[in-house]
Amino acid sequence: MAKIEILIDKCTGCKKCIPSCPFSLITVEDKKAKIMEGCTFCGACLEACPLEAILLEREEKKIDLSSFRGVWVFAEQRDGEIMPVTYELLGAGRGLADELGESLSVILLGSNLKEKVKELLQYDLEKIYQVQSPFLKSYKTSLYTQAMTDLVKRECPEIILIGATSLGRDFAPRLATRLKTGLTADCTGLEIDGESRNLIQTRPALGGNIMASIISPYHRPQISTVRPKVMRRAKPVSGKDIEIIEIEPRLDEKDDLVSILNIIKEEGEVADLQEAEIIVSGGRGLGKAENFSLIEKLAELLGGAVGASRAVVDAGWIPSYHQVGQTGKTVQPKLYIACGISGAIQHQVGMRTSDIIVAINKDAEAPIFDIATFGIVEDVHKFLPLFIEKLESEKQASTPSPLPSPLRG
Ligand code: FAD
Ligand code: SF4
Ligand code: SF4
Repeated sequence: MAKIEILIDKCTGCKKCIPSCPFSLITVEDKKAKIMEGCTFCGACLEACPLEAILLEREEKKIDLSSFRGVWVFAEQRDGEIMPVTYELLGAGRGLADELGESLSVILLGSNLKEKVKELLQYDLEKIYQVQSPFLKSYKTSLYTQAMTDLVKRECPEIILIGATSLGRDFAPRLATRLKTGLTADCTGLEIDGESRNLIQTRPALGGNIMASIISPYHRPQISTVRPKVMRRAKPVSGKDIEIIEIEPRLDEKDDLVSILNIIKEEGEVADLQEAEIIVSGGRGLGKAENFSLIEKLAELLGGAVGASRAVVDAGWIPSYHQVGQTGKTVQPKLYIACGISGAIQHQVGMRTSDIIVAINKDAEAPIFDIATFGIVEDVHKFLPLFIEKLESEKQASTPSPLPSPLRG
């Protein structure tokens, strides 16, 4: 437990500590600071006090870091398929495990896992934990957390990697809280500090303007969620001797707090944005929600998916599923067409690794042109209808008529 107190003899009631508390828990009464209930012991107020009148004592329970070994990858599944981010995590996890001189394991939770295990046997890893139970058929936070927590407590891995997908973002914080350990969310880089064996977890911070390197020096396991599409995907290998460990989790009906009645897919979900090879994205430059039909039409003609900036998602022009960027999805298509998007840093971090970027913007100074492969300085309302018309006529010309030639009009 931690303890915080004001050293009354030192405190002059200067109030300098008041703004430093992110939870507004400090007041000054009778010229003495007072900390109200709810303190998280974050320590932010300590530095603000010029007189060192705040005393924070943390009782750190020392854990034996060396008893935690190995790198784990959580294999996320959706609709019975292993999600692509799993293979990216296997690529990253292999590098970390080799550097630590440890094994790489994949953790599969679910029911009917035989086929999925077969799929994973093709990769460069040492162990597959097959955690099977009818209770784990579909993802449910409480059951998955329970099963994984029990396994982690038993096996003590050093590092756990989880995809920063919507499921991963729900699962990882619960797991970290249950295990009373650190979690770094949305990592874009992972490396090992050779001296301490700490995992250095890099992620954008302060609105994407800086990259923060985060370590968890006193707790294990170190848990990271990793953004899809930023790590290199592992390649299948052959002839690897992989140990399969079957686990029957201790779960029963009383742990099953949620019933899934139905899963409704978002209407008009053309393609998974993160898997699409072509993305046409629209921004505030489109002027109004109705003009998004131009983006949808162009995406349809090119066989691509629809993306969007946060500005238009916030404006309610399109559902948040389509948002690309720091607080949206990271994408890496072969072709990314940005229409009426300024290219704010928070948008760029989600798409700048696309192979080819085409930007259409009427402002030649827009930052999107700094990263564009091809830039078109034009009004989207002029350019897009012409482009769509041209593609439609080319498509028509190349589509053979279903009627025999003598009957063609
Ligand atoms: P604007 O910045 O308003 O740009 C519109 C562009 O359209 C301008 O460049 C203008 O020249 C051009 N234009 C106008 N009319 C026309 C026309 N007729 N023809 C052609 N061009 C035209 N943003 C994201 O996108 N994704 C995120 O994940 C994200 N996360 C964020 C997280 C945080 C913590 C913060 C603070 C911000 C985040 N943002 C994010 C918001 C981001 O900073 C920008 O505000 C947003 O990306 C701007 O969207 P936009 O480019 O559509 O709009
Ligand atoms: Fe506020 Fe953190 Fe200081 Fe507690 S330790 S009073 S939460 S700033
Ligand atoms: Fe007291 Fe220090 Fe806060 Fe000033 S900054 S009111 S001295 S605790």
